[in-house]
Amino acid sequence: MKIYNTLSRKKEEFLPQGDEVKMYVCGVTPYDDSHIGHAMSYVIFDVIRRYLKFRDYKVKYVQNVTDIDDKIIDRANKLGIPPAELAKKFTDSYFEDMDALNIKRADVYPKATGEIAKIIEVIAGLIDKGFAYPAGGSVYFRVRKDPDYGKLSHRSLDAMMSGECAIGSEEKEDPMDFALWKASKPGEPFWESPWGEGRPGWHIECSAMSLRYLGEQIDIHGGGQDLIFPHHENEIAQSESFTGQKPFVKYWLHNGLVQLGEDKMSKSLGNLVTIKQALTKYSPDAIRIFILNSHYRSPLKYSEEGLEAAEKAVERLRRAVSRDDPGGGEAFDAKSYRKQFTDSMDDDFNTAQALGTLFDLASAINQAGDAGVSIGKAQGTLVSLAREVLGLKLPPILKATFTASTRRIVLNEATDSCVNRLVEERLNCRKEKKWQRADEIRKKLAALGVIIEDTKSGTDITYKSVPSEESLNNLLKELGITL
Ligand SMILES: [Zn+2]
Repeated sequence: MKIYNTLSRKKEEFLPQGDEVKMYVCGVTPYDDSHIGHAMSYVIFDVIRRYLKFRDYKVKYVQNVTDIDDKIIDRANKLGIPPAELAKKFTDSYFEDMDALNIKRADVYPKATGEIAKIIEVIAGLIDKGFAYPAGGSVYFRVRKDPDYGKLSHRSLDAMMSGECAIGSEEKEDPMDFALWKASKPGEPFWESPWGEGRPGWHIECSAMSLRYLGEQIDIHGGGQDLIFPHHENEIAQSESFTGQKPFVKYWLHNGLVQLGEDKMSKSLGNLVTIKQALTKYSPDAIRIFILNSHYRSPLKYSEEGLEAAEKAVERLRRAVSRDDPGGGEAFDAKSYRKQFTDSMDDDFNTAQALGTLFDLASAINQAGDAGVSIGKAQGTLVSLAREVLGLKLPPILKATFTASTRRIVLNEATDSCVNRLVEERLNCRKEKKWQRADEIRKKLAALGVIIEDTKSGTDITYKSVPSEESLNNLLKELGITL
């Protein structure tokens, strides 16, 4: 298995350090609803973790919550609520979104405000070793003391100095130094520390939490490409200076960013699409397919057309796994598809190619099914790869065949009797050559997610979604049909 490492800028053979893969992914700062950029990052690392498990690795996955930050304090002040209340609200909202997208929960979600003791311990250790210094109630990291600072972002200190990142202040020894501990301003939440009342800086939180929950050296650290500098560069400087162990992280993985048109999707540009907004229009499976259909290191262009195409792709997969197995002849063997799928995933998690293989398999299943070949096993392969590795739900399409003598119950008595009655009425219209009304019934049912197709044996009813009893009763009333 090969993984692209931002540190070496190469694809490297994946060799974890112990028998358990230690994986850390930077989490959210909960001050607003999560957007598609978050969905992209967390879906990708969810699939990477799922694939490692699929390949029989044990994985411990830690993701932090930065529940104290300038952005949280600012927004809470604007809304006139305590910062902790705001953070709690949007942490809950974040978990709702992750659950809806079928993202598996991490093993631990440490919160910055719950880790202050460990953070203070690491800062104190850095001061003892001469890597940090207190000044004016804050504590700063002495960047020039770290000889390989810049190795992840592949930039020299001089290049950074001329960039936007060097913000001088009277307190700092050097403009490049960054805060580990921030002295509190009046009215801000604070914690006691050896350097006075204050709160932790963002970078030190991730160093302290990965140290506490995963140990001194970890296998995989992930996040968006916008975190490479300064956040991850600073994490390396802190962690390696504190423990004396190198490397802090063996494989650094970074996902591309979501773009809207030519711009990055971001809060500051005001062009965000939240996960909740996207979920009102598209299924979770479509959002996952849309994300996984391009390479995780490439930018992802958000587009409605792309999501609509993904929705159609979901239907194709659902149809292939839901169709009846004719069960005859020699069984169709999907082994070569499975091999292609794992080869793609082994090559730096090429999910776009892996998805392509699943679509090919779906077409092959349809062809084999049409030819009367047994497809049950191949359907099983498709379902397990799609669900286990790519985290798709692929709810089966519920199906019933209506004939005058057999009324099938698929969902529940009430819903099915309404649908059966409508289908029966349509058949009567067709017999009486009332084509327009027959067609109207078909279209109105389709709008409710009930697709009907005429076959030799009767009428096939496929439930794309489950209509409410109320909507069906309204339709009956509208058409003047009694049950
Ligand atoms: Zn982080």
